[in-house]
Order: sequence, then structure tokens, then C-alpha cells
Amino acid sequence: MMTGLYIHVPLCEKRCRYCDFYKLTPDETDGMELFLQCLEIELRRLPKDFAPDTVFIGGGTPTALTPSEYGKMLEAIDRRINLAQVVEFTSEANPGTLTPDKLKVMRDGGINRVSIGVQSFHPRALQLLGRIHDADQAVQGYHMLRDAGFDNVNIDLIQSIPGMKPEDVLKDAQNVAKLEPDHISFYNLIYEPGTPLTKARDEGLVVPPGDDEEADNYFMVKEYLECAGYGHYEISNFSRRGRECLHNVLYWQGGEYFGCGPSGASHWHGKRFCNIPDLDVYTERLLKERDPFNEVEYLSKEEKARETLVMWLRLTDGFDLAEFKKVTGFSAYDLCGKGIDSMIEESLLQRTENRLRLTREALFISDAVFSELL
Ligand code: SF4
Repeated sequence: MMTGLYIHVPLCEKRCRYCDFYKLTPDETDGMELFLQCLEIELRRLPKDFAPDTVFIGGGTPTALTPSEYGKMLEAIDRRINLAQVVEFTSEANPGTLTPDKLKVMRDGGINRVSIGVQSFHPRALQLLGRIHDADQAVQGYHMLRDAGFDNVNIDLIQSIPGMKPEDVLKDAQNVAKLEPDHISFYNLIYEPGTPLTKARDEGLVVPPGDDEEADNYFMVKEYLECAGYGHYEISNFSRRGRECLHNVLYWQGGEYFGCGPSGASHWHGKRFCNIPDLDVYTERLLKERDPFNEVEYLSKEEKARETLVMWLRLTDGFDLAEFKKVTGFSAYDLCGKGIDSMIEESLLQRTENRLRLTREALFISDAVFSELL
């Protein structure tokens, strides 16, 4: 089973109105030098036998770093991780922060996949989300990535944005397909507690589409992108053949990983822990060679297997029952045979001879299916 490294860069030019990831804006920090110094300490403290197959730099906005800061981060990673063994090295990118010299630093440092957050091509939607870029900048950013030589690019989009009609959602699907990225993530907008967008919704200032409309949009996008040559391989993810995101597939198949940086989450040898989402505490702890997290949760093998079962079902192909047993040590039916049988009866799960997967109908209501199985 592959292992992965995630790095959380706690910096964004500005806060988007829907986002609750941990980050600071430039006016809230004295720069990223100390973060980079402490990231290197944290990387050095990882277990000696940890040699990841995938690395994913997210955040925050990694490309909000200056070229020199970005280069220092890559050097720190290179000093600890054998990049020759890394098969996929992704960086997230915000179209409003890309420059040719930054992209050169990324390419030269070994990044071989970029995930660019476009979110929508509709001016009103981008404004409502509070993005720092417009649609033209997003398209330019995508072309800059291609010009810089990146041959594996994901575009992130969001659907169910208030005010967007079905034809607007379809237009977003058409616009993204026209760009021919290798991978497309099309997420449903989530109202995270405490964000300005959630507050606006609670005050009735923005009105989300109804469940039926969201479901219709979901299947409309699915069908459009499939016809355009993208395989729908995970609930919210589409890709050209062979361009699935290996780092995320690792999560979905119950693989182990370390997450560095403030708020980075790790799951390693039955232990689960999450770094404190506070840059000051994070750096203070690491400068004293202390762990940047508090509680460690110990998962039994059975708990881990149950989690893996629902995560793996996120993949539209589901899993091979024998492989699941080999990976987790448990039979899926021993873990939750009753739940599986009743979901099959309700046509939400499908069992072929050796595989278990969500049915098409279950894709949009997968959370309800998963909570039945857990
Ligand atoms: S750029 Fe990304 S991480 Fe930063 S606030 Fe916006 S959505 Fe969140």
C-alpha cells in the first residue's frame, strides 16, 4: 500500500467566503520564513522508515509564497524525502498568484502535477465566493501551467453556488472540458460553520438551490464530462484514463500518510493526530523540538477497517471484496453485512460477483449510505 505526505501552507492572499481551512493573510504574518524553518524541523522528525510515494502541497495557497519561499520549501522537502521514489508530486495553485518564475521554481523542484482552483467561470459566482481572480485570469493561469510544461493538471470547480441556474452549471462543465485538463474535481458547495457564506445563508441573504436541483445538476455534470471523455472515478472527481489523483486514491483506499504544517492531519500505524491549527503554536512547539499536535487517537484494526470500507466506496468502482480483506484483515460482510444487505435491497449498493460499489442513485446521497454502514 502506498504512503503519502501532505504539506499545509498556511497562507492565502485573502479569505474566500466559503472556506474554513486554516490560513493567515499576508497582513496577519511577518512572512513565512519561520514557517519554512519549522516545516523543515517537522519533516526531519518524521519516522526514518517513512518514504512516501506521493506528496501533495496544499493549504492555504502554496502559490501565495514568493518564488524564493516556494524554492526553500521544495529544498526542505528534497532534503528529507527521496523524490526519485515519489510518483506524484502535486501542488495546489490559485490562478491569482501564478507567475512564470514561480512556475519555473515549481517545475525545477520536481512538482509534476498542479491542481488549480478555478471554482467557476461565472463572474457573479466568483464574486459570491470571494475569489481573488476572475474567469479570464483562471484561464490564463491554466495556460501558464501548460506553457511551463506541466502535463498533469487538475481544475477544481464548485457546483450548487447560489444564483447559478442549471444552464450556468452546464456552461461551467463545457468551459472546463474545452480546456482539456487531465483531471476535474467538481465539488458541491459546503456551508462550513462560521464562514461568511454560511452566515449569509443563515440570514437569508443567499439562497442555495434545493436538493432536487442540486442532484439534477450533479448528474448533468457527470453525464456531460463522461461524454467529453472523463472517467467518473470518485463521487466528485473525473479524470482522463491513468490521470486519477494517486494521493487522494491513497486516502480513499485507507492508506497511511503524514500531514505537516499547522492543521496537517496524519494517520500512521493505527495512530491519528492533527497538528494544532495555529502558526504561532506550531512554530513555538517545533522550535523546542516538541510535537505540534496534542491528542493522539488510537484506532483499532477493526475501526480502521470500517473507515476504509466507507472511504473506498467513494471510488465509483468500489472495491474487490478479496482485496479489501487482504488490505484491512477483515471481511466487509463480517464488519457490516446487515447494513450492506439492506443497502443492496434499497438499490443503494450493488454487489457483483466479487465487487461492492455504490449504485448510480446512491452517488449523490452517499453520506447517508456511509452513515448506515459505519
Ligand atoms: S484560496 Fe483556497 S484555501 Fe485560501 S481561502 Fe480561498 S479556498 Fe480557502
